[in-house]
Amino acid sequence: MVSSSWAAWLPAVVFGIFGLLIGSFLNVVIYRLPKMLERQWIVEYAEITGNAAPEAGAPFNLLVPRSHCTKCGHLGFCVETYDNSEEKE
Ligand SMILES: [Zn+2]
Repeated sequence: MVSSSWAAWLPAVVFGIFGLLIGSFLNVVIYRLPKMLERQWIVEYAEITGNAAPEAGAPFNLLVPRSHCTKCGHLGFCVETYDNSEEKE
């Protein structure tokens, strides 16, 4: 009986994890793609108008830079706590 109840939940767990992976990837694409296109359009506009292209700066695409905490720079998920009392001012 125990194994049959686990078997009933397994598809839900697998599809749930798969959904989280798809959602995470879509979140990256939705956030980064407009910024990537904007950078590309600025360079193309400079080429068309004959102006100097802006400095390339750090690479920015779907893989680079890696996900990081915007507060402390930790890569991936950050578990540090912050004193945000200064931000309330
Ligand atoms: Zn952090």
